[in-house]
Amino acid sequence: MARSSSTSCAQRAAYWVFQDSLFKQKPWRRTLRPICSAQQVSTDITCGAPAVAVAEVHAIDECNQMGLNPDGDLVETLCQACLVTVQWAMDMYVRHTREMASRCGTRPACTTCGRPTGYLRSVFAVRPIGPEGLAS
Ligand SMILES: [Zn+2]
Ligand SMILES: [Zn+2]
Repeated sequence: MARSSSTSCAQRAAYWVFQDSLFKQKPWRRTLRPICSAQQVSTDITCGAPAVAVAEVHAIDECNQMGLNPDGDLVETLCQACLVTVQWAMDMYVRHTREMASRCGTRPACTTCGRPTGYLRSVFAVRPIGPEGLAS
């Protein structure tokens, strides 16, 4: 289902999302024309494509770290390609977590705050960015 032509950008994001540095503190830049903040871990190169959405990804088991919003979510501005990749990665994570938990007869949850992590919508939220940028 890979329709996007910007594969390298998507691959970088996939790499990025599986690294610990997903939960690394990042400055939240409020700009009129936000750009994708997905980063490659080894080089720190930012994707930089025009962002289409703000994603809130729950920092599962790490949500008491610095640099997160009050809900313990990592807030990232993402371009279309990175958004698709991050969503896919989180979906895979959630499926895996749910499968592991069901084998043990438990419900998956964030060990830090207890938020259920068995469904994508409970750990991943997206707000589209309009033409005027972010509404505050
Ligand atoms: Zn991107
Ligand atoms: Zn949590």
